[in-house]
Amino acid sequence: IAKKSKNCYVFFSKRIHLQLIKKIEIEQALQNALVKNEITLVYQPQLNAQHELYGVEALVRWNNEKLGIISPEIFIPIAEKTGLMPAIGAYIMNKAMADISTLQYKMKKSFKLSINVSARQFVQLNFFEALCDCLNCYKSPYMDITIEITESLFIENVQRLRPIFKKMKEQNVSLSLDDFGTGYSSLSMLKNVPIDELKIDKSFIDFITDNKNDRAMVESIITMGKNLGMTVLAEGVETEKQVTILKNKGCDLYQGYYFSKPLTLDALEVFIGNPR
Ligand code: C2E
Ligand code: CA
Ligand code: CA
Ligand code: CA
Repeated sequence: IAKKSKNCYVFFSKRIHLQLIKKIEIEQALQNALVKNEITLVYQPQLNAQHELYGVEALVRWNNEKLGIISPEIFIPIAEKTGLMPAIGAYIMNKAMADISTLQYKMKKSFKLSINVSARQFVQLNFFEALCDCLNCYKSPYMDITIEITESLFIENVQRLRPIFKKMKEQNVSLSLDDFGTGYSSLSMLKNVPIDELKIDKSFIDFITDNKNDRAMVESIITMGKNLGMTVLAEGVETEKQVTILKNKGCDLYQGYYFSKPLTLDALEVFIGNPR
């Protein structure tokens, strides 16, 4: 047993060691990701119940020559911890507005551009300034911005953030509550923050076809959101059955692989030209 547990110990420490090296490698590579043009954006369409284009969500991608493709779920927390997120966040906001305003002018079409902003990003002092700079830079009759936030941040900061919410409203920027239902403070957030849109988390959508309880929860979320005057979007919609159920329950907006995966700007142009 002693030997076995010793082997176990060696095995674990080696794995942890490798993870550590990997993390340091990621951190170092991330330092140069912007200048090396490794950070790109893709856009996932959001549709209304008539399957017309409502908007797009900008999703960041990082492709490093040595490390390969690294998920934003991995590198964004690292960017936040190492102080790189303000720069990467500003880049994302700027690039997304540049891309989409160009496309909107070209197609003479207005639709929403939804940008993810992490909790830490949002509470940075210069976040709102950076947003306003971009809004001024890409001001156009077509531009219509939504900022997606998650509930985690607001547990303690709501009062302090109130002036920012007010200023966002003045700039006609909408606020979307992402991953709704997965956090700790969902309901108090709805009470205290001027949310325009509720995004029902994919984990609730996944089983609505087979699970009565999940169906009931989604129905309640839709009803509550609408009663509060919010637009309700279902994310991670993958099947026609899910769409049918959600439509019957009055869901306003749909996003997911059933309609489209996240697309490059060129592919988005094609998608808008030939909707599903
Ligand atoms: P999220 O904001 O909840 O984004 C939804 C994620 O689900 C995206 O993954 C998207 O590609 C994926 N998805 C969409 N539809 C479907 C579907 O039908 N089926 C499945 N299986 N997946 C679907 P992605 O792009 O890997 O992003 C993961 C997370 O990383 C995002 O979750 C968001 O929290 C964060 N993130 C992505 N881009 C940004 C960004 O520009 N800024 C910040 N701060 N966070 C970002
Ligand atoms: Ca999102
Ligand atoms: Ca989400
Ligand atoms: Ca998420």
